[in-house]
Amino acid sequence: MSFTLHGLAVSPGIAIGQVSLVSHATLEVAQYHVSERGIEAEVARFDAALAAVRLDLGALKLEAGVSPGAPAELSAFVDLHAMILSDPLLTEVPKRLIRERRCNAEWALVQQLGQITAQFDEIEDAYLRERQHDIVQVVERVVKVLLGHRRRIGKRGREEDLIIVAHDLSPADTIQFKQLNIAGFVTDLGGATSHTAIVARSLGIPAVVGLQHARALVEEDELVIVDGVRGVMIVGPDERVLEEYRLRKAQLELERSKLKRLKSARAVTLDGQEIELAVNIEMPQDIDKVKEVDAAGIGLFRTEFLFMNRDDLPGEDEQFEAYRSVVKALPGKPVTIRSLDLGADKTARSLREGGRVEPNPALGRRAIRFCLTEPQIFLAQLRAILRASHYGRVRLLVPMLAHAHEIAQTLVLLDQAKSELRDARVKFDERMEVGGMIEIPAAALALGPFLDKLDFLSIGTNDLTQYTLAIDRTDDAVAYLYDPLHPAVLRLVEMTIAAGRRAGIPVAVCGEMAGDPALTRLLLGMGLRQFSMNPAQLFEIKQRVMQSDCSVLRGRVQRLLRQDDPLRVFEQLAKMNAA
Ligand code: PEP
Ligand code: MG
Repeated sequence: MSFTLHGLAVSPGIAIGQVSLVSHATLEVAQYHVSERGIEAEVARFDAALAAVRLDLGALKLEAGVSPGAPAELSAFVDLHAMILSDPLLTEVPKRLIRERRCNAEWALVQQLGQITAQFDEIEDAYLRERQHDIVQVVERVVKVLLGHRRRIGKRGREEDLIIVAHDLSPADTIQFKQLNIAGFVTDLGGATSHTAIVARSLGIPAVVGLQHARALVEEDELVIVDGVRGVMIVGPDERVLEEYRLRKAQLELERSKLKRLKSARAVTLDGQEIELAVNIEMPQDIDKVKEVDAAGIGLFRTEFLFMNRDDLPGEDEQFEAYRSVVKALPGKPVTIRSLDLGADKTARSLREGGRVEPNPALGRRAIRFCLTEPQIFLAQLRAILRASHYGRVRLLVPMLAHAHEIAQTLVLLDQAKSELRDARVKFDERMEVGGMIEIPAAALALGPFLDKLDFLSIGTNDLTQYTLAIDRTDDAVAYLYDPLHPAVLRLVEMTIAAGRRAGIPVAVCGEMAGDPALTRLLLGMGLRQFSMNPAQLFEIKQRVMQSDCSVLRGRVQRLLRQDDPLRVFEQLAKMNAA
């Protein structure tokens, strides 16, 4: 039976492929197929993970025995977990699944956990029912070890047509798709500018989020179409629909490849305004995509992704190598490295477990607030960025600033990092520029300290929209209210651009608005001359720039900004885009 599910289109394109279900809850792991020859190695990897957890538990038990302060229950708790770990339901059945289904060990284990916990739900005895938490914890331990040694899906075979279907995916899960060959993905939850959606766009793979019940309604290996333009997933399409979509897919690919011809064209408007089109990246590996589109530079390097999917923190040297590799790959071009923006939907395992980043504090201690309360982590990153500045044109960008004292404290710590490097006779660019993100309404409304103390500004329209409208950008339940075209958001963007121009401080936009061709003319009319976006969007934006005339747009945008009714804003924008 064929049916269609509707959600939010977050990454354009069309994917046709087979479903790979990703498990729900904390234990979301990807499934991949293991070749016939690799099966015994996969089983051995599973056994090694079990052995590692047994060793860990043994060490814990020893500690509980010798440490005078250890609670009495600890020893019993460790015994219980060791007992669970030796149950054939957890040790043998997953191995059977690996062999029968030729799947990866972590997926087999999580599937088996699903079976076990479903049986627990039926148990009447509350004490026994509660024991399922212990089983989940034991499985989590094993999965953690397995993920630490995760192998990558190769570039061949069935994986080319894999469509990931998940209840929810964190940005940390999604970034791992960069190493895998995923054709598309859909999730039940999520908003259009959640980092999961942003990562999907940067991967250039079609994605639809907020489908509500997709995870429950589709089956493993089922054939589906993901339409990332219209925001739908078609399950079990018939031959006629398939044919139509194959055609549309081919057309989209043709249009995309035609746009590649713009690579060497200059981004200049009809009235001769030179526009800077830079890109946003998450990982040093993204540099190939940056070169493919010949971007003017990097307008936003989201360094927090270096901190994800690992149990430790990247040290100063490791960070330095990562930043330097990007800088050296783009000689002469600016590389804007943003200091750590952890928090909200972006979390690092190593910090979460220490209780240092609370879950989902969109209004909490994220980004610069976190860095200023963890000066050692911040200083290590500042030194790494400064060291990389010796190799090219590095600029430091600080997220989530709202208060003058946050700017002042950041600059004090930067001075400290500089003097530490000077003392160690390590070279860096003494004049490295420092900029601030304007993504909190308070910052846009009280720009004085930003203009006085910083060298450049970059407007983060994703968060600016979230905080202006009080809409959690990751929450699909309120996604219909998330509107970057709300007059209040537009006025804050325009005010920031105008104030920067008056003060002679360059202003860029690095939020998702910059990569939306429907908004290019609007931003040009506001006076914006620096855009930073996902590399996949650059050619389309360049085409739009080349078809626009800033001298005409200015007056039109001023009129549009006077509208209080979002519907009128939308109408005027549509007219402006049609002209
Ligand atoms: C933004 O908020 O617009 C932005 C570019 O930063 P991020 O999406 O990483 O929060
Ligand atoms: Mg932001």
